[in-house]
Amino acid sequence: MKALVHDGYGNIALQNRPLPAIEKPTDAVVRVTRSTICTSDLHIMRGAVPRAEPDTVLGHEFVGVVEQVGAGVTRFSPGDRVAVNCETFCGSCFFCRRGWVNNCVEGGWELGCRIDGCQAEHVRVPFADNAFTLIPDTVSDEDALFLGDILATGWWGGRASPRSRRAPPSPLSARAPWALPP
Ligand SMILES: [Zn+2]
Ligand SMILES: [Zn+2]
Repeated sequence: MKALVHDGYGNIALQNRPLPAIEKPTDAVVRVTRSTICTSDLHIMRGAVPRAEPDTVLGHEFVGVVEQVGAGVTRFSPGDRVAVNCETFCGSCFFCRRGWVNNCVEGGWELGCRIDGCQAEHVRVPFADNAFTLIPDTVSDEDALFLGDILATGWWGGRASPRSRRAPPSPLSARAPWALPP
């Protein structure tokens, strides 16, 4: 498959990579139908993300169709059209139980950073039951594309976070989707 790979030294290139496969029972493989870029991709390219792994497919904002699921995936099936959360999280560790999924001891920002991401034709997604949101038939891929990171980040920064609930809306709130990394 075609995939956009970052080499760890600021260079990206379109490469032919093997199709991803299920590695753990909680994994799924998704065929990407729409993906977009994020400022965080640029942060990786500029060396500002020390935890990023070289030789990794970039990208963590996408929608697609589930192609395969592991034996431990119970909420989704092949053929489901899904938006994918940019965060990888187990749902049961200390941090996940408090809603701080970015700090999950088994995940956090993994896709496109430490494991192959979505600037590719297919992606392996860990903890698929936590990662996916089913897209209703009435919602297009284009409209759902921003759900996994940009829209959710903007909602958190502008409306839902404790700090934003204490303060009136500001111009920064309106810029939150672009101002904040995942
Ligand atoms: Zn992002
Ligand atoms: Zn966790």
